[in-house]
Amino acid sequence: LFITFEGVDGAGKTTQAALVAEAFRRSGRKVLQTREPGGTPVSEAVRRLLLDPQYQVDPLAEVLLYEAARAQLVAEVIRPALEAGEVVICDRFIDSTLAYQGYGRGMDCAMLELLNDRATAGLRPQVTLVLDVNPREGQARTGQRPADRMELAGYDFQVRVQQGFRELAAKDRRLQLIEAGGAIAQVHRRVIEALRPWAPE
Ligand code: C5P
Ligand code: MG
Repeated sequence: LFITFEGVDGAGKTTQAALVAEAFRRSGRKVLQTREPGGTPVSEAVRRLLLDPQYQVDPLAEVLLYEAARAQLVAEVIRPALEAGEVVICDRFIDSTLAYQGYGRGMDCAMLELLNDRATAGLRPQVTLVLDVNPREGQARTGQRPADRMELAGYDFQVRVQQGFRELAAKDRRLQLIEAGGAIAQVHRRVIEALRPWAPE
């Protein structure tokens, strides 16, 4: 079982992914929780490049770096874990590329889908939970720590990204839009409800 979390910065993906991982562990499943960009030594090194505000990154170079990190994560971590029967929970995946580089940066979504296909060798999550939060609330949540390079792109960018996630969710039943404003426990209940067909108790 392969589950991904998506949403704008500060939507609560990491928090909710950890709670879901815990729920599956309690039900006796072995769980691998990972993140994008990152999750392997090479991919974490790429992540540091991507998020460092000292660099200016060409949009095509940027998307290729995300895809490079993804290809490594799929080959080294995700595919082997799925083959071993584990539940894999990933914080961001292919849909972030469409939302950020497609809707956010204005790159051609058909080209991005092609790159996604290559990087993952066609691997898709069974279910993707899109945590939908007002970007202002998201910014308030991440405001505690210094902004990374992508977050410096600003509020209008975050709004385009959120709109992108909503459109993706409207087009594809794999993506489930979850209202993610408010308390952690309340959002968690909505997430568990959406995962009912895959039953973490
Ligand atoms: O969610 P997390 O903080 O781990 O994401 C790292 C950064 O990468 C975020 O600022 C996010 O906006 C950005 N990102 C991106 N394009 C992607 C994936 C993540 O701009 N395809
Ligand atoms: Mg972030």
